[in-house]
Amino acid sequence: MILLQIIQEVSIFALHLKTIFVMGANSEFLIPFKGLHNEIHEYRFQVRTDFFKTFENSRIKEGDYEIDLALDKREQMMILDFSFTGKFRAACDRCLSRIDIPSEGSDQIIVKIESQTQKPVEENVIFLNPDAHHLDVAGLIHDALHLHLPIKNERDCEAADNKSCDRLILDKIDQQEKVKSPDHTWDVLKELKLN
Ligand SMILES: [Zn+2]
Repeated sequence: MILLQIIQEVSIFALHLKTIFVMGANSEFLIPFKGLHNEIHEYRFQVRTDFFKTFENSRIKEGDYEIDLALDKREQMMILDFSFTGKFRAACDRCLSRIDIPSEGSDQIIVKIESQTQKPVEENVIFLNPDAHHLDVAGLIHDALHLHLPIKNERDCEAADNKSCDRLILDKIDQQEKVKSPDHTWDVLKELKLN
């Protein structure tokens, strides 16, 4: 009986949780909102490097993220709660090695299903033409991930589980910083290249 109950609960859960894996086509991000009941719908997206390549000015060139979206469908609007966790690959600001930088965050977007009039622009509010049939969340996901990029591309290089930084360069930088306080990263790198 308990097993049956669990199976029922899992299948109900699965009905609501639509897992969408990105195959490089942005059509995966089109939500046919017209057919949705007024309730919360949950989606999960996975975006990788291919996703970022579809955006011209993406600051993330390589990345791997999982995004959960809770879409609260209402009469003339939708409240979108995005939460994501993942990592992107970039040059470390300290040693210039390519490192994976973890990133996570959440964002709320309110979608008003109405023609945009002369209303003042509100932050986190977008308008969707009532004639539209789909809501494209690709751009919203892209924006949310970029909004939460760290100011500096670095990790705790001294952390025991992270060996991705260039130890040799970091040690050199540390030595130099002990002698002189300003940033001598480029001097150190130049010196290493010459040797
Ligand atoms: Zn580093």
